[in-house]
Parts: sequence; C-alpha cells; structure tokens
Amino acid sequence: NGLYMVYNVAAAFFAARELGVDAAHLQPTLDAYVPAGGRMGRWEIAGRTVEANLAKNPVGFDRQIQSIKTAGGRLCAFFLNDNDADGHDVSWIYDVDFERIADTTGLVAFAGGTRAHDMQVRLKYAGIDATIISNVEQAIGAVGDEAAGDTFYAVANYTAFPPLVKKLDELKGTDASSVASCAVTRADGSAVPVGVAPVELSRPLRIVYLYPDALNLYGDGGNVIALERRCAWRGIPVRVDEVRMGEALDLTDADIVMMGGGSDRDQLAVAHELLAQKDKVAAYVEDGGSLLAICGSYQLLGRSYYMGEDRIEGLGVIAAETVRGSDRLIGNVAVKTDLAPEPFVGFENHGGRTLLDTEATPLGTSVVAGTGNNGDDGFEGIIYKGVIGTYLHGPALPKNPELADWLIAHALERRGDAQATALLPLKSLDDTYEHAAHDAAMKLLP
Ligand code: GLN
Repeated sequence: NGLYMVYNVAAAFFAARELGVDAAHLQPTLDAYVPAGGRMGRWEIAGRTVEANLAKNPVGFDRQIQSIKTAGGRLCAFFLNDNDADGHDVSWIYDVDFERIADTTGLVAFAGGTRAHDMQVRLKYAGIDATIISNVEQAIGAVGDEAAGDTFYAVANYTAFPPLVKKLDELKGTDASSVASCAVTRADGSAVPVGVAPVELSRPLRIVYLYPDALNLYGDGGNVIALERRCAWRGIPVRVDEVRMGEALDLTDADIVMMGGGSDRDQLAVAHELLAQKDKVAAYVEDGGSLLAICGSYQLLGRSYYMGEDRIEGLGVIAAETVRGSDRLIGNVAVKTDLAPEPFVGFENHGGRTLLDTEATPLGTSVVAGTGNNGDDGFEGIIYKGVIGTYLHGPALPKNPELADWLIAHALERRGDAQATALLPLKSLDDTYEHAAHDAAMKLLP
C-alpha cells in the first residue's frame, strides 16, 4: 500500500535485474512476500479489519497519514514511544502532517505509547481530539458501534510496534463483546474549540516565521502551530508569514517573530543572511517586539558564536555569547522561570554553551534537570524586552502554554490600541491535555 512502496519495489526489482535475476521472478516473489515483523499487517478483530504499520520518522509517518487519507480511513490510533531505539526527543511529531486528516468526517482518533500525552497534544494542535489508550484493544472496543466496514488503522513508532502486533495477534478472532468490555470512554471533541467568533482587531496578529527551510531542526515549527492555534481558539485573527532564505525580511508590522534551531552549517548560512539585515531585527527587538528564538537562533541573536578558532558574528541584539564545547548537551530538561508556577519542560540538544552578560536576565532562573545555557551557572535562556531565547525544543510552546501566551500577550500589549488591550489578560483556555503532557515530561526527569 502507499506510493512509497512503488519506489521500494522498483528499487528492489532493478537491483535484482542488475545482478542478473530473471524479471519473470518479480511477480511470484511479490506474491509470496510477507513484510517483516507484522508491518502492513491485517487482522480481523471483533468483526472489523485492523491494519497496522510502522512509522519511525516524519517522512514515514506522513506516508501512513497519506495512506489513511487515500483509503478514506476515519478510525485510527497513533502510538509514540521514546525508548532508546526510538530517540528520547519526540519533537519530530510536529513535522508530521496530521492536519491532512483533521477534516475527515467522523474521524475517531486515539493516542497511545509511552508519550501518548505528547501525541494527544500534537493531534489537538492539528485540530483532532484524541483519546488516550493504554493498548489497542481499548480503542477497538471503543469503536464497536461504528460501521463494521470501516477499517481501523494503527500506526506505531519503533518500539511501540512489536507490542502492538503482539496484542493484535492475541485479539485475532476475539468477539465484539469481549473487546467492548475493554473500551475507553471516547473524547467528545470539546478539547478542540471550533467556530470561535472572531474578535475585533485593527489587523490580524502577524506571526513571522523566519527561515523554516534552514531553522527547523527538531519540530520547532510546532511553536508556530501553537501560537496560531492559541490565537484562533480565542477568536484572535492571526496571519502567519513564512520568510525563506533569500527572501527580503519585512518586520514593519510583525507582532511575533519565531526562529527555530539549526545545525552549525545552517546557522552559519542564516548568520550571513541576517547580518546584512541586522538593523531590521535590532529595531524590532528594541521596539519591544515579541520574538521566540530556539537553540541555534538563540545563539545567533548574541554577539558571537565561537566554533573552535572561528568566530561567527551574531546579531548582537541580546547580551550573550556562545562557545562550542567538545561534547553535546542532550536530554530532557526542566527549568524554573518567573512566567509560570511549574517549570518549563523540553528537550535540549546543543554543542554551544551560552554565557549571559551579568546584566542580562535568564528565562530559566534555575535548572531542575538538564543543562540549560552552559551547565555551570544554572541559567537557561534569556528574556529581554519581548525576546525569549531558549534551548528548549519539544517544541517549547505546546507543552508550556504559559510561554506561548506570554508571547501573544506581549504582542497585544505592544499594539497598545483599545481593541488589542481589551483582549488582556488573555482569555484562559482548557489546557488539560497540555498540562498532562507537561506532567508526563516532568516524570521523565532523572
Ligand atoms: N548548532 C547549535 C549547537 O549545536 C544549535 C543546535 C540546535 O539548534 N539544536 O549548539
């Protein structure tokens, strides 16, 4: 199934042909092919067909989403684990285009795995209210009253897949009543506000997403999704403009600027791109514009980034500088801040060590776990006027909604007109899922 299988089969066929295999073997070989480990498997359970497949990265996951969409699928479960073989950083789910199935009529979705709550939040920000499950039986039971002809699709990442297949094997031939007894109560859709009446605003809140083609190392684009959704859920008209490498930068009526993380190489390219337009960024920052800079772009806002002997000149709009260390600082991180009662959580992965000038204010005033700016002074990130610089991937905003709302509120405050200030303090939202994902991340800390 899926277009990608055409490429797999074609590659295998031509490799075999180059090796002298007779083309007549192709069809019989395909007919006899059984995918390894239950991949692309089909099961008949409680009168319904269940299809399961493995997806361990955004590209593979996107292919599965596309297959479900093509088949008109509307019953699905997504399992996300964060064990060693999966990678401990689950930010990548924000690079998966779940939005593609969000408008499927009658969509029923479930989220499972060790990071089920992260998956639930991801789906919420795609516009899908998913139910948490601890195994696939609970989901199959919960769709018992849906049309029997509707296939159930289960997609799982690396270590989540074998237990899924094992469970499906056990359930083969099980009758509907025994599966029904395990059913979870389905989410009622209320977690995703729809049809919120727009509020009056002189012009939409303009979010400028800088260089998604160079700076989106670990799902940082999820921050833009979070900002955009949290405005929309309050009826605040919002517009997102992406600025790509080579395009002119216009920050005149920008309200929030977002920049993600990047490898040293991409960071260098962005430094070249931005240094020529440094005045625009400096003017925006000094005027109090909201700006979120993650990891590589946070480093870039400082005076300089030392890579061994080489000094990369930064924009110099924050009082900090970064030096690349000999090893990388990788892992779950939590930091106490003055912006929220609970620590902010995320995942850090950086070689650079950032040192703030003494007069600068850190975002995280003490590191609960992880490294933060440099592993020495207990600080994480920076807060300067409307700028938040931080090492937190995750992405940072969906699991730390207070940080997202701080940026939105700051932007409205800067607008200063009556319509904008009437929206402050921001209407509170139901952040139950976000807080559950936040608490699950806190439990991962050493
Ligand atoms: N290149 C930077 C570093 O390793 C930033 C990496 C990132 O954005 N995650 O320090």
